[in-house]
Amino acid sequence: MEIKYAAYELTAVKPEQYPKGNLAEIALVGRSNVGKSSFINTMLNRKNLARVAAQPGKTRLINFYNIDHKLYLVDLPGYGYARVSKAEKAAWREMIETYLFSREQLRLIIMLVDIRHEPSREDQVMNECLLGWGRPSLLVASKTDKIARARVGERLEEIRVCLKMKGTDALIPFSAVTGQGREEVWREIRKYVPELK
Ligand code: GDP
Repeated sequence: MEIKYAAYELTAVKPEQYPKGNLAEIALVGRSNVGKSSFINTMLNRKNLARVAAQPGKTRLINFYNIDHKLYLVDLPGYGYARVSKAEKAAWREMIETYLFSREQLRLIIMLVDIRHEPSREDQVMNECLLGWGRPSLLVASKTDKIARARVGERLEEIRVCLKMKGTDALIPFSAVTGQGREEVWREIRKYVPELK
């Protein structure tokens, strides 16, 4: 997939601040530090478009990236960082639930999990929410370059079992270092955003 134009467009907290118009949107969810920023940079073939966090948990707002004026990639704030207050957690939850529930042009939610670890309790809850909401979602296992190639298959299987995935559900191994999985993820995205073709 060749991207001609890719740019950060705006940051939002509330619906009034989301982009106007009705371009298709693809949202990204996952725990803090799972590799969402790196995923965005790799998908868009840009080095530093999304800031790879020096300090996990810094990006607590919703960031919109415009792709070829046909699609927004929407980076939702990561969950799972330890040092936040109850009030902050509640605000985070409201912010992302409001977006995920109400955004009409949202076509697909991509959830990242780290291939090295068993999905956390929060990953499991998020995954159940996505299934419950009935919106299309796609699972991506990040950082595959960090484990031996021979172990990738078994790790994917463990994630599948933990998240109670069906055999037909896609779980794409991905690496921001090698670019593994990039084309496959774009293929999945294009199924939901045919205007990208
Ligand atoms: P975010 O908090 O989800 O946006 O995660 P980042 O993209 O900032 O990544 C967190 C850390 O993991 C950074 O140190 C990245 O360099 C590293 N990282 C992210 N993706 C990969 C990957 O595919 N392979 C490797 N080896 N490191 C990665």
